[in-house]
Amino acid sequence: MKDKIKFLDVAAINRRFITTFDEELKNVVRSGRVLLGTQTQRFEEEFADFCHADYCVGVANGLDALWLTLLSKKMLAAWEDGDEILVPEHTFIATVQAVVRAGLTPVLAPVSETDYLLDVSRLSDLISSRTRAIIPVHLYGRMANMQAISSIAQEYNLFVLEDAAQAHGAQYLGFSAGDRVWQGAAAFSFYPGKNLGALGDGGAVVTSDARLAQCIRQLANYGSSEKYHHELLGVNSRLDELQAAFLRHKLRELTQDNNKRRIIARRYLTELFNPYITLPYSTMDIEQKMQSVFHIFPIFTKHRTKLQNYLKDNGIETLVHYPIPIHKQKCLSMLWTDENTYPVAELLSAEELSLPISPVLSDNHVTTVINTLNSFEV
Ligand SMILES: *Cc1c(COP(=O)(O)O)cnc(C)c1O
Repeated sequence: MKDKIKFLDVAAINRRFITTFDEELKNVVRSGRVLLGTQTQRFEEEFADFCHADYCVGVANGLDALWLTLLSKKMLAAWEDGDEILVPEHTFIATVQAVVRAGLTPVLAPVSETDYLLDVSRLSDLISSRTRAIIPVHLYGRMANMQAISSIAQEYNLFVLEDAAQAHGAQYLGFSAGDRVWQGAAAFSFYPGKNLGALGDGGAVVTSDARLAQCIRQLANYGSSEKYHHELLGVNSRLDELQAAFLRHKLRELTQDNNKRRIIARRYLTELFNPYITLPYSTMDIEQKMQSVFHIFPIFTKHRTKLQNYLKDNGIETLVHYPIPIHKQKCLSMLWTDENTYPVAELLSAEELSLPISPVLSDNHVTTVINTLNSFEV
């Protein structure tokens, strides 16, 4: 019996840290400090450095990182209810829910069929007098064209909030997700399955804007910057000491872990040959593709159900990111009419299939995935 190849083996990823995690658990228990302590503070400093940014604010999850950044910016820049935020038509639902939860209007912008990221050539057509921000999503671990997005943002005086939940350590022209050169903010998630994953929920905002960082920190702590003084109506959204301690250890391995993902991606990109399967980022050269951190390795096929079942029968687990496009989600149905069409989002939702990829996926398993896929017939 062959081993089963999991889509993502979170247990195996974390098992590598079990001794240090054990130590950290004891330290936190002994210290008695479980929230708002030195572990969180140190992690924030280290993660800001990792992203080449001045500030990092730990929060409870990636959705809150996006939402609290938008709420803060709305307050600081005096945006009005219903002001418009450009978001890609193809993303995880949290990106769009954060916008709606902040009392703002998401405007779905087309993504390109070659890299599944915001199509910058079509952004300016969607900008109105009420547009306030662009949220590029670095989907699947690959950064959107931040240079073009930044220059459009400058031209129209828009804020840029990177949704970097899938892109810890990704680069664009040598600059990281969250880098100060982009002059905005980046929201990260430490959901256990992300490239930098906690042992529970966690998130962070990275920015080099001191006022923005301060406002997010305040909102995340009951609107208070001094104990018992509440200037704003806030929420409780914090990264705790234990998660921060775990994340500090995992952060030290992140670059190497991302490189392991890249090695697997390179093999998939160079060894997969099947006329029924389209590889991702097909028109880009391999070195450019390798700036991605391959949170997801997507392939595309018109025979998805058949392929997914075939892989399952061969012990290979796959997932779909994402099967239902944003404009077809019930919770957002009030936002668009039948006149709004999103053909690329529909195409990607219909044809995408995510292959196993992770820092603990063995070479043998990668070979099995490749051989199995190369033998797929319709
Ligand atoms: C995971 C994810 C989020 C949300 O992060 P949570 O920590 O799960 O709230 C937001 N955007 C994208 C693109 C994601 O992949």
